Amino acid sequence: MPAGKAKRIMPNIFKITSDPVVDFAAEELKKYLRMMMPRSGEYVISYCPGAKEGFRLGVFPDFGLSTEEVEDAELDDVLHVDTDLTGGIIAGSNPRSVLLSVYQYLRLNGCRWLFPGLDGEFIPIRDVQPTKYHKKPDMRYRAQCNEGAETQQSMLDTIDFTPKIGMNTYMLEFDIPFVYYNRYYAHRSNPEREPEPVSTDTVLQWKRVTEAEMAKRGLRLFDMGHGWTAESFGISSVVGWDKQSEDTIPEHMRQYLAEYQGKRQLYHGVALNTQICMSNPEARALVVRHVVEYAKQSENVHCLKIGLADASKNHCECEACRRMRPSDWLLLLLNEAEEALDKEGLHPVLGFSIYSDTTWEPEQITLKHPDRFLGAFCPISRKYTMDVPTDPHPNKITPYVRNVSGRLDTMEEYLWHYQQWKQRVPARFIVYEYHFWKAQYYSPDCLTFAKRLHDDVIAYHKNGFLGIMEDMSQRHFFPNALAFSIYAETMYDLGLDLDQAIDDYFSHAYGDAKEIVKQFFTDLSKLLPQAFLDTAHSLPVDVHQFRKPEMIPLFEEAIRRSDRFDEDMKPFRNMPYRVQTVAVRLLGHYTDYLRGFLHALIIKAGGDDEGAKQEFLAFSRRFGARERDIEPYYDHCLTVLALNVIFNSKEEQEM
Ligand SMILES: [Zn+2]
Repeated sequence: MPAGKAKRIMPNIFKITSDPVVDFAAEELKKYLRMMMPRSGEYVISYCPGAKEGFRLGVFPDFGLSTEEVEDAELDDVLHVDTDLTGGIIAGSNPRSVLLSVYQYLRLNGCRWLFPGLDGEFIPIRDVQPTKYHKKPDMRYRAQCNEGAETQQSMLDTIDFTPKIGMNTYMLEFDIPFVYYNRYYAHRSNPEREPEPVSTDTVLQWKRVTEAEMAKRGLRLFDMGHGWTAESFGISSVVGWDKQSEDTIPEHMRQYLAEYQGKRQLYHGVALNTQICMSNPEARALVVRHVVEYAKQSENVHCLKIGLADASKNHCECEACRRMRPSDWLLLLLNEAEEALDKEGLHPVLGFSIYSDTTWEPEQITLKHPDRFLGAFCPISRKYTMDVPTDPHPNKITPYVRNVSGRLDTMEEYLWHYQQWKQRVPARFIVYEYHFWKAQYYSPDCLTFAKRLHDDVIAYHKNGFLGIMEDMSQRHFFPNALAFSIYAETMYDLGLDLDQAIDDYFSHAYGDAKEIVKQFFTDLSKLLPQAFLDTAHSLPVDVHQFRKPEMIPLFEEAIRRSDRFDEDMKPFRNMPYRVQTVAVRLLGHYTDYLRGFLHALIIKAGGDDEGAKQEFLAFSRRFGARERDIEPYYDHCLTVLALNVIFNSKEEQEM
């Protein structure tokens, strides 16, 4: 009997548990079963707690299954599948886990989600097989956070993609994430596109749409982060890191801002980067009041992140603030916020960050109720050629000196401080990472970065972190989502066989061209190595790193290799699966991108900074013109931002 024409032996899907996420899980199961077996007839979905046949979807207790293996059945996912040819149980420790189980069941039966969106699906026509599966994913929080230049479609697609690849948490930064949406819709970094401005009201509405889509899937929502230190004082931070006029500060609020170099004003004109006078109880009370008001209308939020201002070396220099480290003041504020929320009967998890100046652990204050908090370790200025140590022994310990000690440059030192934090503050911690912000652009061969993700996830787990959240563009899948998939899969299963997982991704994305593609990226890893490009985030750039004429022959060979690869791929432009045609054609865009990038790099390596900058400008403008064709996968704004670090770097310049 041909695949997809099995006789109709399992027509029904029964919901054993009544829950909106289980409703959605049943719809998803039906959709993909009908795609896999398009001639097998309709599946009827109904709520039937007593059903004994067909597909039965629900949470463990409704099947008499134990959740003893997890500490918290709401927080921790456990997936359980036990089906034969006539249906069976697809269960989870909570409703979200039921949805994860549905996707895992489909995956075990041959489905893959290789990119976000409709064109990223690999759904074979094939009869489903008896399937037994049981797994507790190895990390509790498997997450991403919005960054880059967002389109609303990219937000919706990545939310949909999240449970399909086994992830469970999503963060939306800012009350109104206008800055990220505006980067895209205003096309400021892409002169080839006409601006399509959206209002802050539209963005706020769109944020609510994304929240509804997350709720439908039972995803945990983390919210906010930076912004409290401005918005609580009537100062809008909606423009993000753009400079603002001092007039935006209500005059009676100026007293609460951080004193910096003798003045209370916006830090270099940026509201989002402006700290407050943390020793002033009224200043803290204003933040706490704003947190409470915000929390009252945010009961769908699992973790409300209370961040200080962004940037570093910007804390208040008044005498009273100098008495404690920024981390002590932060914990004092967090305790006050927790107490105020408690009085209102509000109990979100409260998030805080070990970030920039609060990397230095507190000395005097600790959290009163650490169970209510989730800390995030944020090594923003790390390099991605560095391993994550599991037993850090830094060569130096930089002392904390207010507004002098800035971001660190080794993972050894970062993790040493995390260990000090843990000793003083018995909260739980996750990592807030930046692989898919700028670093991905400095590792263009995919394979090196996939291994980086794999190794880092394992090392972070060994350091005791409960999960990882990536700060990232929602359009960072150029030329594929291999590294992101490896990130998701390793958090899910630390025992993942990396080579096998890469082979699986390439087999499904590139079909018969898989070996040609793999060989190309292997060659590229030697001709355009990450070691040459890797640049620490948010630290001064060492321009000498790029002045290496000895690299020029390698870059020239990379251009020729890209040309040969294009020739080799010509027979594969039209593939059996839509996702493969999309994936293969993206590679054609990618070799164009590589050639443009390499031509500018050759000039840079030869020592002509200005010539390289002009070449890169011309290339980025040309390439930006095609963003519309590939925009679900390619973020032009973030690409230019990342590569500008290389091409704008000069002897005298700090980035
Ligand atoms: Zn102060």
